[in-house]
Amino acid sequence: MVMALSDLMWEPDEGWRDDAACVGTDADLFFPVGEDEEAAAAAKAVCEACPVREACLRYALATNQTEGVWGGMTGPERRRLRRRLRERERRAS
Ligand code: SF4
Repeated sequence: MVMALSDLMWEPDEGWRDDAACVGTDADLFFPVGEDEEAAAAAKAVCEACPVREACLRYALATNQTEGVWGGMTGPERRRLRRRLRERERRAS
C-alpha cells in the first residue's frame, strides 16, 4: 500500500520493461486521443494483468509522465494520486 508520495517517486531500474505486458502491443492503445475512461479501458485491461505494474507506475511518477496510460492509470488519474498523497503528507506534517 502506498503511504506517501516519496514512496512512489523513486525511479526503478528500467529492467522492469523486459516483463511489460504491453510489449508488442499497439502503442496508440496506451496513448489514446483524449484520456477519458472509455479510451483508456483497453490499455488498462492489459495493465491489469501486468507483472510490473507497480514499477511502471513508479517510473511514470518519478519521470513525470503526463500523457498516456502507465501502471494502469491515465495522466489525470496520476495527477489526482499525486494530489491525494501530497494532501495526506501535508495533513500529517
Ligand atoms: S503496467 Fe501497463 S503500461 Fe505499464 S508496463 Fe505494464 S502493461 Fe505496460
